[in-house]
Amino acid sequence: MNPYLQHHLPRIQPLLKQWYETKKVAPALLLTGLDGIGKSWIANYLAQWLNCEVADQSKSKVFSPLVCQKCVMCKKAEKNALVDLYRLQPEVSEEKTGKIKIDQLQSLLKDLGHGPMEAAYKTVILDPSDAMTPQAANALLKTLEEPPADWVFILTARHESNLLPTLLSRCQRLRLLPFSEAELLTITQDTTVARLAQGSLQKALQLKEGQGMEVYQKAQRFLQNPQKEWESSFECISKNMEDFNAFLSELERALHSQEAVDKRFMQFQLIQDTRFQLETPCNKKLLAQYFLGAFL
Ligand SMILES: [Zn+2]
Repeated sequence: MNPYLQHHLPRIQPLLKQWYETKKVAPALLLTGLDGIGKSWIANYLAQWLNCEVADQSKSKVFSPLVCQKCVMCKKAEKNALVDLYRLQPEVSEEKTGKIKIDQLQSLLKDLGHGPMEAAYKTVILDPSDAMTPQAANALLKTLEEPPADWVFILTARHESNLLPTLLSRCQRLRLLPFSEAELLTITQDTTVARLAQGSLQKALQLKEGQGMEVYQKAQRFLQNPQKEWESSFECISKNMEDFNAFLSELERALHSQEAVDKRFMQFQLIQDTRFQLETPCNKKLLAQYFLGAFL
């Protein structure tokens, strides 16, 4: 079984059972959770399940949270050829804004009057939904005020708080949990990788391939000699949030093994504050500068 499915099955099974038994699928479902735990994978899986014969009580007498992998729709899903499945993702290339824009949504919503062509539902995956522009989010909200029959919107986001409260209230919500260190160890067979990945399978697999290991080594060297390592650490963490977070985590872990308790307390506090600020729209370069400077 796919490791994402194996890990999340206990969380999604009650939801699918509810949908199967009541024959009522939520018009909008929001999946939240940390990066790299498989939100997109699960969104796609749910879309396939909704299309599969197992979701249909008239065809499948016994509930199953697993897709059959045999029916016409499953075969199509395998080839990525489901006609009633739409994926909206940020348009990164043109302006590098990485936003889901209103025109992307509108070109879909103009078909609101029409039901699915061959599946039981039209499924729209918004991944990640917190990348929607305010206009796009409002258009979606308006749609969900009178949700079209046979349409299901599946949204992903890191945190619920990243979405409009009004939009949130229209969604059935499911929080997906991080992987445990033990699970990651079973998958990667590597204790260091399992610890550093912080619950993210995607991260664990990257680290296993040797990608991204340098940011952890950088954090350790910075702690030993902040003066010397300041500049290269800044280069390393100011470019993207993921590396910045990894740097903070490794610094935090390394600090636990140090002795000067008073100083440590302040540094832990600083790490926590910085982590919090990283989640907000802020100038990452300034934040990195301020954070590293506090260690000098
Ligand atoms: Zn099937």
